[in-house]
Amino acid sequence: MNLPDPLVRVSGAVEVAADVLVIPNNDVGLVPNIGVVCGTEAVLVVDTGLGADNAAEVLAFASEVAQGRRLLLTTTHFHPEHAFGASAFPSYLVNRAQADELRHKGSGYLEMFRGFGGAVADRLNGTEVPVPDEVFDGVHTLDLGGRVVVLRPTGRGHTVGDQVVEVPDAGVLFTGDLAETGQFAIFPWFPPHDTDVSGVGWIGVMDRLIAAGPRVVVPGHGSAGGPEVLEVVRDYLCELRDETWRRRDSAMGVEEIVAEVRAVLVERHPEWVGQEWIELGVGCLCAEASRLDGFSVD
Ligand SMILES: [Zn+2]
Repeated sequence: MNLPDPLVRVSGAVEVAADVLVIPNNDVGLVPNIGVVCGTEAVLVVDTGLGADNAAEVLAFASEVAQGRRLLLTTTHFHPEHAFGASAFPSYLVNRAQADELRHKGSGYLEMFRGFGGAVADRLNGTEVPVPDEVFDGVHTLDLGGRVVVLRPTGRGHTVGDQVVEVPDAGVLFTGDLAETGQFAIFPWFPPHDTDVSGVGWIGVMDRLIAAGPRVVVPGHGSAGGPEVLEVVRDYLCELRDETWRRRDSAMGVEEIVAEVRAVLVERHPEWVGQEWIELGVGCLCAEASRLDGFSVD
């Protein structure tokens, strides 16, 4: 594989709301959108970029913004480009399920990403699986001084430990990889190593995020936008589920389902990248349908 260098460019940071900055990923693979949310007493960074060097750049940028205010870090989920730079930060807090995933799956993902070789492997030199300084249960409210931020675990979707970060006074929502723009939804369906992604759970999560009515949505990758970012993802996930399950019900083999669903969805979204995720999404949803069948028989 010859992937582009997943370099975080802090100079591109933009203000998406008052005192809410985003370091955009500029559509570079394995670079996440990174948030910097400011209160009068503390500044919260959301996600780190891949590896220690990117994280050091993000930390330096956030320190300059903070001007002596306390710096905190949280991550939207445990995947390496979102979390594997956290050791650089003085105070790293996450939800319980995400901390568990870091502990159980972190080293496997570190190996997988090193296996991509090239610039991706280089960025993971000397990078370790981070250990959170603080782990919380349930919804966690942070008072940054004149501004409250809500760290909300969503339940299983893209991963088991997904959490979104809400800035209620600004109407901003950081989704992590529960939402992307300009690409097919990322299904980390890697049997037998990791089969925790849930298309069914994910649709429910998106419905709840849409109902909460954010004004500005910062996806894990791709351009920020309004609530339509969430609706597009939800609608796509429903298409993927319906197109997959309809064919599965007619006893079609998985390979044939993949080929047909892929053709239908690429035709509907010709401008999106990441077509390789469709097959993994079909695999996930076929397995979930089997589980649901088993449940209904009991
Ligand atoms: Zn992810």
